[in-house]
Amino acid sequence: MPAEFVQILYQTPAPGVARIVMNRPDKRNAQGATMTHELDEALRRASHDDEVVVIILAGAGDHFSSGHDIAGSEPWMPTVQESRGNWGQFDGPGWEGSYARERELYLDATERWRNVPKPTIAEVQGAVVSGGLMLAWACDLIVCADDARFRDGTGADMDVPGVEFFQHPFELGVRKAKEWLFTGGWMTAAEAERRGMVNQVVPRARLAEATLELAERIAANDRFTLKLIKQAVNHAQDAMGRRQAMEHGFALHQIGHLQNMLVHDSMINVEKLPESLRRHLVKLKTAWAGDETVGPSAD
Ligand code: ZN
Repeated sequence: MPAEFVQILYQTPAPGVARIVMNRPDKRNAQGATMTHELDEALRRASHDDEVVVIILAGAGDHFSSGHDIAGSEPWMPTVQESRGNWGQFDGPGWEGSYARERELYLDATERWRNVPKPTIAEVQGAVVSGGLMLAWACDLIVCADDARFRDGTGADMDVPGVEFFQHPFELGVRKAKEWLFTGGWMTAAEAERRGMVNQVVPRARLAEATLELAERIAANDRFTLKLIKQAVNHAQDAMGRRQAMEHGFALHQIGHLQNMLVHDSMINVEKLPESLRRHLVKLKTAWAGDETVGPSAD
């Protein structure tokens, strides 16, 4: 566990409020293994801190999150020491290692963050792309700036059927979820609010202030009661089949990766990516041939 965080900031801006800030603005807060582990540790710290009632998750810079880091600049697989789960076998043959990695870093981590017992608020601005959606959706409430825009481009850009944390039908309703995934288009903050995906849209200049105001209002209430309320609503959503749908969506996501491996010899269809990114990934792939500790993330 890191004594100091490298890619996030841990702040306490008001009594009862912790604010966790993804701090890679030059990478649009792309989420690699380091940030994933640091977010996990920060949420654990906030959960166990008796003084914290509400947790804000924010992103530094112009954009909340560009999604999972596909630059391949960090270790590809978590180590056993870093791992929070017991699935293991990150270096397994065939698809075993990649499945273990996606379950550990994407599905199980996001599910754990969704179930952090204290109320969480995402403070969202600019672009929220693919894996970035998972970070916002894992939070109980979402306050977004009027410049926020949302996109799951995994289907349109990479030929996998939506991000690993398959929450789309519960966030948008079935019909819009299908349209959005079929087209891979952007959704504005105004439409996200209209569809109930976010709680508030505020001017960009007021985003941090408005989020903190909401956090302070919530933090004025009894800590244990808030935890019970969250538990009640989360269990209601799980009783509607969310958890089972999530596992099924994850399994289909893995089939998408395997199909790409069979057809394109890559977890994602790199042919559909922008030329600069495609060239970068092809170069990396050549490099991994001699070093299996780095590699591409899918989305
Ligand atoms: Zn994936």
